[in-house]
Amino acid sequence: MARKFFIGGNWKCNGTLEEVKKIVSMLNEAEVPSENFVEVVVSPPFVFLPLVESLLRPDFQVAAQNCWVRKGGAFTGEISAEMLVNLGIPCVILGHSERRSLLNESNEFVGDKVAYALSVGLKVIACIGETLQQRESGSTMAVVAAQTKAIADKVSNWTHVVLAYEPVWAIGTGKVATPGQAQEVHLELRKWLHDSVGAEVAATTRIIYGGSVNGANCRELSAQPDIDGFLVGGASLKPEFADIIRSLT
Ligand code: PGA
Repeated sequence: MARKFFIGGNWKCNGTLEEVKKIVSMLNEAEVPSENFVEVVVSPPFVFLPLVESLLRPDFQVAAQNCWVRKGGAFTGEISAEMLVNLGIPCVILGHSERRSLLNESNEFVGDKVAYALSVGLKVIACIGETLQQRESGSTMAVVAAQTKAIADKVSNWTHVVLAYEPVWAIGTGKVATPGQAQEVHLELRKWLHDSVGAEVAATTRIIYGGSVNGANCRELSAQPDIDGFLVGGASLKPEFADIIRSLT
């Protein structure tokens, strides 16, 4: 079964009200292929989610950048998965490396979050990826397999999961993985899914790449057989995001 190309824009902790409105106008005016061809999801900070949701073109969706690990309640400062559903937010990014490293989110915690978000009906972009030190010591595959296993241990239905491979050394550094480096890990991940989860999940789950993707490098990356789209940080705030959405055309 063909995997629909998936482009996520991770705005991270950026933007003022005025800037957010400008980015949405830019997106709304962008010429992009039809939604049958590519799925586009942008992820503003929580406080701007309802506004972006209301202004954004209907063929694009919004995602939150995080949510709480279980049902809401006495968890000051957290946002529950149920609240996102209640506001009509269809999707959430979980396990981003910035949260793993800065906020100590463990593989198990991310696995629990993914399972809980799916259980309330959200789609999940689940992020994994190795550090430079891990890559240089030859443990890339062991690291991403352990991160994926922690998700697989808790999740039985992968229909609404997009796996984002984001090498930490490539995020926000301008040092993009080569198409060969990215393809190698994506293929290994797909093999891991095949052997540990099942052939159908391996064949249908989108594995997208993130880390310094921009308008200039997206086409070569998108031509790789196991790269099913991108999670874009810095460039998702700029007009070149439309070029990235068009990278397969
Ligand atoms: P970047 O970020 O494109 O700015 O490297 C990607 C991400 O963190 O999702």
